[in-house]
Amino acid sequence: MTDYDVIVIGSGIGGLTAAGLLAKAGKSVLVLESHDRPGGYAHGFKRKRYHFDAGVHLISGCGPRGYRGGQVIHKVLRALAVEDEIQFIGIDPFSHAYYPGFNAGLPQSIENFIAEFGRRFPEQRQGLNDLTQLCLQVAEEITVADEMMAEVDHEQAQCLLPALFKYRKSTLAEVAERFITDPELLGVFASNWPYLGLPPSEVSFVYWSTMLIGYMVDGAYYCKGGFQRLADTLVNGLKCHGGEIRFKAKAEKILIEDGAVAGVVVKDQRFSAPMVISNADIRHTVCEMVGEQYFPPRYIQRIKKMRHSLSIFVVYLATDLDLTAMNLAHESFCYSDVDHDRNFARTVDGEISWLSITAPTLVDPELAPPGQHLLMLTTLLPYQATESWKQAKPGYMDALIELAGHYIPGLRQHILFSEGGSPATMRRYTQNYQGAAYGWDVSPSQVGPARIPNQSPLKGLCFAGHWTSPGGGVYGVSVSGVQAAQKVLGISKQAEFWRQLNEVNEGRPS
Ligand SMILES: Cc1cc2nc3c(=O)[nH]c(=O)nc-3n(C[C@H](O)[C@H](O)[C@H](O)COP(=O)(O)OP(=O)(O)OC[C@H]3O[C@@H](n4cnc5c(N)ncnc54)[C@H](O)[C@@H]3O)c2cc1C
Repeated sequence: MTDYDVIVIGSGIGGLTAAGLLAKAGKSVLVLESHDRPGGYAHGFKRKRYHFDAGVHLISGCGPRGYRGGQVIHKVLRALAVEDEIQFIGIDPFSHAYYPGFNAGLPQSIENFIAEFGRRFPEQRQGLNDLTQLCLQVAEEITVADEMMAEVDHEQAQCLLPALFKYRKSTLAEVAERFITDPELLGVFASNWPYLGLPPSEVSFVYWSTMLIGYMVDGAYYCKGGFQRLADTLVNGLKCHGGEIRFKAKAEKILIEDGAVAGVVVKDQRFSAPMVISNADIRHTVCEMVGEQYFPPRYIQRIKKMRHSLSIFVVYLATDLDLTAMNLAHESFCYSDVDHDRNFARTVDGEISWLSITAPTLVDPELAPPGQHLLMLTTLLPYQATESWKQAKPGYMDALIELAGHYIPGLRQHILFSEGGSPATMRRYTQNYQGAAYGWDVSPSQVGPARIPNQSPLKGLCFAGHWTSPGGGVYGVSVSGVQAAQKVLGISKQAEFWRQLNEVNEGRPS
């Protein structure tokens, strides 16, 4: 008799999704979280009367429209019967992009997107339309791919999922340049590249397509009250179905007996379970918490070769400027160059040359006192940009505030509160390697079958979160949580998985 059926290490959105769904399926589940609250990068914090999001600005996957019963986060919350405890606010345009000499909102719906940019770039209209339709086709094929692959052989799958097979090894730039020739439009089309942490010449076209279509077609959302609410709601769902969560409980070791997982050690406590899902950094889980000797050498080599994503620097600000009157968007990407490969190269060199400005109080004023607004100034940066983030932090904060002042006149004179979050901060609160914002990079050689799968070769060990399949971002890790739960329950088809969970909803345990 073990203490639990499943232990989940980490309460990021991927870990909580897996934990909640397994509790719902009737498993006894314990979540161990080293921080004092759930959410990982989706957690929030309070300073004075300001409610800040530590990381997440905008997500997709929350809508009731979608394949077989809605988009993934909606399905999870509904399965846990907590969907009424949370409110998502739709954001359209899903972002705004600034370039030297022009700026534009990126509207939802393919028709509005093509109409907006077809007007600005009439000669490119057809190419833009064809490219966006291709992104839609890829995203639709991805939705059904898992289920289809379980039913047909490789050759049949190639016929049924033509775009996915054709473009699975392509980058965004390789595909986009076949359809669009204007460098300005290429830049605008790729404006949201920081959401995946890689520029057009490196990011997987397939992963890009799911992200773009997620925001453009399925919808972009802010979570009322901040993204901590999403994590808290998932925790409520877990607890409603008998699951437990412990905070300030850092998992140190995963116990192995007879070549299989047997439990987890937290300080001087041991919790036994035949199944562990790690939502923590995979390399750390495998090499430190378990031990390399328990895995095939080729698996270890593969993990050591994977390339991790960049980290992020954030300035959290409160201001008494009237941002509504300035017509600022919820999320603005501000670039001094339309060439995102050059923007990325400067980032890799540790330079601050672009930023995103998020103003969550524009859609949720209750995050700050009346007449005040919150801002998050964000840029990607490598962890190694400096030897001491403690010393470098004020300089980076100042540079981001200076840059943001080009888009928000008078900002510096109207700051009521400021705090910085460096790559070292990101690492400290989540233990992601070097504060990686998205786990492994989503380059073509690290997504799809090339990503570290949810199931490890060690009996009883699975993964959920941005280090495993399908990849980074809240939408991606929610899918990973579903996939990890499927592995634990041994249900390969998603439709069957949701069917069984919904039977539990109707009081008919499967
Ligand atoms: C600043 C920033 C902004 C972002 N903005 C967006 C956005 O707007 N939209 C979007 O979709 N994505 C965004 N992302 C990416 C997204 O937040 C992440 O990809 C996603 O949230 C990762 O979820 P996860 O499930 O992998 O867990 P993580 O968020 O990585 O959390 C892992 C959890 O595990 C815990 N943990 C780790 N090791 C242990 C251990 N040994 N014992 C116990 N607990 C442990 C950590 O404390 C943490 O709570 C952003 C990322 C950052 C850094």
